[in-house]
Amino acid sequence: MTKVLYPGSFDPITYGHMNIIEQASKLFDEVYVAIMINPNKISMFTLEERVNMIKEIYKQYDNVHVVYSSSASVDLASECGCSAILRGLRSLSDYEYEVSLAQVNKQISNGIINTICLFSDANYQFISSSIVKEIDKLGKDLSAYVHPIVEEQMILRRAKW
Ligand code: ADP
Repeated sequence: MTKVLYPGSFDPITYGHMNIIEQASKLFDEVYVAIMINPNKISMFTLEERVNMIKEIYKQYDNVHVVYSSSASVDLASECGCSAILRGLRSLSDYEYEVSLAQVNKQISNGIINTICLFSDANYQFISSSIVKEIDKLGKDLSAYVHPIVEEQMILRRAKW
């Protein structure tokens, strides 16, 4: 059985992340979308909100699961029975960061956890959670970047400002 852990902040999940999850759900038996908690990072959505949105989006997918942790992603990968971490690549700058991360993760897991990278399809390459948050601040249409469930939550927040 092939299982992968896809860690990230997912604050919020975008069509870029979803494109990677879509590809992975066809390539691997089980995909664990892992929300990694970083207490030093100010997030737009709480952990619970992020978990609920991703669960709702993938409720029809039998092989996509949502997990979360504040420990190392390699430890969570082992706990979930995953021998690999999945990351998504957009640009050359992503590549440089992902290479170091992959090496560190291999080292701290005593050579056990490998990293697999997938490229998002052309239409999704430029989307990031931070760009989506900027577009949201401008009060512009979010429908090309996030699932309607996420869009609804973001618009609800605008109304509270
Ligand atoms: P992090 O905070 O660890 O960067 P993110 O939630 O931003 O986590 O992203 C998780 C993973 O998804 C990272 O590997 C990131 O490069 C990848 N990713 C995010 N957006 C895209 C995209 N549009 N195309 C491909 N990969 C993406």
